[in-house]
Order: sequence, then structure tokens, then C-alpha cells
Amino acid sequence: MYIISSHNMLKKAQLEGYAVPAFNIHNLETLQVVVQTAAQYRSPVILAGTPGTYRYGGVENLISLVKALAHDYQLPLVLHLDHHEENEDIFNKVRAGIRSVMIDGSHLPFEENIAQVKEVTDFCHRYDVSVEAELGRLGGQEDDLVVEDKDSAYTSPDAAAEFVRRTQIDSLAVAIGTAHGLYTRLPRLDFERLEQIRQRVDIPLVLHGASGLTEQDVQKCIQRGICKVNVATELKIAFADALKGYFDDNPAANDPRHYMQPAKAAMREVAARIIGVCGSEGRI
Ligand SMILES: [Zn+2]
Repeated sequence: MYIISSHNMLKKAQLEGYAVPAFNIHNLETLQVVVQTAAQYRSPVILAGTPGTYRYGGVENLISLVKALAHDYQLPLVLHLDHHEENEDIFNKVRAGIRSVMIDGSHLPFEENIAQVKEVTDFCHRYDVSVEAELGRLGGQEDDLVVEDKDSAYTSPDAAAEFVRRTQIDSLAVAIGTAHGLYTRLPRLDFERLEQIRQRVDIPLVLHGASGLTEQDVQKCIQRGICKVNVATELKIAFADALKGYFDDNPAANDPRHYMQPAKAAMREVAARIIGVCGSEGRI
């Protein structure tokens, strides 16, 4: 089995004190770069897609690509559902072969969030699929998901303990001051809150909105229990900027095998840097 759940991968990270980078992938090139870089550094890695990514690439197509890459590199890979909100959608993708999911009920009132997540864990654990959920709410935008600042909320440590106990999730995404997308000014992260959550919750914690944080901030989070660091925007920007630069210099270019090269090199640099920040090199 080459497509695996993230349960053991994250438990090992928790035990050994590093984080697994989770990269949002969008196309063949992102997948190739992330897997090649992970193999080069012997780093565990999670490939994540929002509902929009799976609509764009096709569920079966993405699963087949990841299986083939895992086989080529002899590297078990996690293909993860990022910010999925519909239970039926999750169930269908699990039936298709996905082994790691995030059910995001963070927009719901506490009890409704628990009820929705519990239904997902009940289903997923029968398939040996790991489940991440979110409590509190990140601001910013990721694909179709837009959260205004006024609607964002930090995770309560006591509520987190109850949430984990009642839902039986495998990992918890926390809101401690990060946001999706790009930061206009550097956020102040609530490390004390993260420590309090860690004291009350014994499962791997997940940091969303890591694009643009300082290396020091990410590492402080890892020291305080973050075991999975999500990166989406940074890869996208590296890809697009390099592509635009190439076309500026080579306006007549028309072969994707050529014009994709600088874009891939730019993403490779980002992926390698994030692996370094996460401390995940050499962990497989
Ligand atoms: Zn996220």
C-alpha cells in the first residue's frame, strides 16, 4: 500500500519533536516537485488538496498519480483532503482510496462541529483513515473558503480537550493567530495558548496558514506540539513568479516541458526550505 494514512506519520513526528510538511498540490508539476524533494531529503510528506483541487485534477487522476510517484520513489505517501466540509464528499473520496482527511466544521457551533466530526471519524476509522478537524477559526482565504477577520476565533484549550475526547480525531488544527493566504503584516502568535492546548490534548496538533511566517515562529510552534505544518500559498507564488519571469524573458516560449522548468526549480527551493524548517529531513 503506497497511499497511507497520516496517523503513524504524525505520531512519529510528535514523539520525536519535528513536524511533517503538508504541501497543497495543484497539478502534475507540484506533485513531482514535492515528491522528488521529499525523496531527496528522506522527509515524510503530506500532499494536500482542497475540494477545488480535487475538482480541478479529478479524484481518480490524483490518486493514480500519487500511487505512481510513491511506487517510483519507493516512498509511502499521504494524499490528504484539506478543508473538506461535506461528509458525503469525504466518504466518496475515502471509498476511492484516500486515507487521510480533514473535516472542517470550524464554522459550526461547538456541538454541531462535534456531531459532524464524530460521524466522519466513525466512518473513517473503519477504513483505517486518519481524521483531522479544526476548532477555533482561521481568518483569510483558501480557495472557496473565506473567513472575515471578525469571524476568526482562537482555539480554547478546555474546549479542545473536550472536542478531542468526544470526536476521537487523530489530529487537531488549532487557531493561534495564523491566517490563510498572505500576511500583510506578521501575525503575533499566541504561543501560551498553544502550550495550554498541548497540556490538555495528547494528539498531534496542526498549524494552518504557515506561508509567510518566520522560521523562528514555525519552530517555536513545533517545540510546543505542532506536528504538521500546512503550506499552500508559498508554493503557488514561487510557481507563478518563476513562470511569469520566464515568459517575460522568453515571450515566444510554447513548450511546457521547457517553461515549467524554472517554475519547478522555484517550488523545489521552497519545499526544501520548509523541510528544513520542519526538521523532517532524514526521518524516513
Ligand atoms: Zn488550512
